Amino acid sequence: MKTLTEGLILREQNIGERDKLVTALTVDKGIIKGFAKGAKNIKSQNCAGTQLFTYSRLCLIESKGRDTYVISEAKSKEQFFGLRKDIANMCLAQYFSELLMNILVDGEKNKEVLSLTLNSLYLLSENKKPPTLIKSCFEMRLLSICGYMPDLTMCSICGEYDRETFFFLPQTGSLICSHCASSDSLPFSITMDRGITKALRHTIYADDKKLFSFSLNETGLDTLNRATEEYVIRQTERHYKTLDFYKAMR
Ligand SMILES: [Zn+2]
Repeated sequence: MKTLTEGLILREQNIGERDKLVTALTVDKGIIKGFAKGAKNIKSQNCAGTQLFTYSRLCLIESKGRDTYVISEAKSKEQFFGLRKDIANMCLAQYFSELLMNILVDGEKNKEVLSLTLNSLYLLSENKKPPTLIKSCFEMRLLSICGYMPDLTMCSICGEYDRETFFFLPQTGSLICSHCASSDSLPFSITMDRGITKALRHTIYADDKKLFSFSLNETGLDTLNRATEEYVIRQTERHYKTLDFYKAMR
């Protein structure tokens, strides 16, 4: 059976000298694996359309009894060329891929996730926002869509919404305010001032269209990043090699 869909290539592996096996996040089938015959040949029509971080129109053919599709056609729509100019941005995009492949179940449909990923790659590729801001937004929004939404509305002990300082607890995805926190009993936490608390709330609660529309100074962004990264690692209970590469390249 044939499926015409669109998808973003998240990983490419060479199979022999001519062929490729790619992992893609598609509109209609979620994350899929697809075999692209002859796609390593630059003369092949499918070569550009199956390249890493290319968004393509895909024709998928289901093969009986196998979980890998055959990609009979891959026509590139958007290649995010800007990503390839900066090694740190490329590493960050690879971390996004690893996170997506870890968190999304194969075959799960998810247009929201695809749209978030395409927007993030676009901003990264065009240098429209600081990479650390894009990273925090991507991490928190992706986890929220996938069922790991933290509760950042108020202090989990006294219910206060507005305080000068909040502590974010990545293990539980909750906040404790400075009045309720006592240093000897506080579990691992990130200390946040008003601006950082507001930014972290924004990554979760802002409308999709306004997700990336906020600013923080560099120190603030670094703290925000520590908070969102710890949240990802603790909630998904996994270590991300691509994240280490990104941090080494920054
Ligand atoms: Zn409190």
